[in-house]
Amino acid sequence: MKDEKLLEIKNLSIQYKTDDGVVHAVENLNLEVGNGETLGFVGETGAGKTTTALGVLQLVPEPAGKIVGGEIFFQGENLLDKNRNEMKKILGKKIAMIFQDPMTSLNPVMTVGDQIKEMILLHENVSNSEASEKAREILEVVGIPGERQDEYPHQFSGGMKQRVVIAIALSCNPTLLIADEPTTALDVTIQAQVLDLMKNLKEEFQTSMIMITHDLGVVADICDKVAIMYGGNVLEYATKESLFTKAYHPYTQGLFNSIPDLDDEQDRLNVIDGLPPDPTDMPSGCSFHPRCPHAMDKCSECAPPKFEVAPGHTVNCYLYE
Ligand code: SF4
Repeated sequence: MKDEKLLEIKNLSIQYKTDDGVVHAVENLNLEVGNGETLGFVGETGAGKTTTALGVLQLVPEPAGKIVGGEIFFQGENLLDKNRNEMKKILGKKIAMIFQDPMTSLNPVMTVGDQIKEMILLHENVSNSEASEKAREILEVVGIPGERQDEYPHQFSGGMKQRVVIAIALSCNPTLLIADEPTTALDVTIQAQVLDLMKNLKEEFQTSMIMITHDLGVVADICDKVAIMYGGNVLEYATKESLFTKAYHPYTQGLFNSIPDLDDEQDRLNVIDGLPPDPTDMPSGCSFHPRCPHAMDKCSECAPPKFEVAPGHTVNCYLYE
């Protein structure tokens, strides 16, 4: 069951039109998420992680943004063939998203209980009192006493607000939960608690997840598989165990090298030289070539295909041809 494909993204391309030109936010991206699996989606800001997630939900902001190619199969059906009403039924009920900042997801003038209830009533055929009871239960699941359901968002701390957002996302027991940097806006101590909560929920509800993050520590903690993203595409894809045993792509190696070693007294952090590519003017060939210490002539001529370096572990880099 765990290896069945729940989500399969094929050759997805998403562009934005800006005053500076066309931004190639996602280019020919291929990715899969299995049932019950958590995929870590890792990369720097601007790598295309959030845009890919918005593409799955068909929430790419129009008219500037547009899905210009590809297919997104969810439970075997191409989401790009669905109309607005069909997508509405899927969002929340089958696919839910948790955004970075809980305050942008919560309605400040509605009690948290009503916000959870609203979601339940939208997707489930239950009475008002049954929805209230369910809202109360789901608050308890995320560690908030049920009697606080009559309070407003401003009465909760940042970590508690993110728990409420998670409760709303889970209220209809979605099959796929997409979490976009869900702990970034929180204090470090609270981050660990929210991650623990998500880990427990994943085990309890068997929800598949896409965890968007720039933090390999989060991946180590919660993910089964990892996609390393750069310049709108996936450069390395592997199980967590395989990636943490050996990272093959020079960019992934750079990410691991930039994690500070607490036992080593260093004056400065190891950072990857250079800057992420300008998405309105992407480098030719391998998008990482201007920063890559191993770049060869052909790297700037033609984008490298995918090479399998270990079972299920693929890398887009000519070093493994
Ligand atoms: Fe570096 Fe070439 Fe590999 Fe790109 S394809 S990561 S430039 S060696």
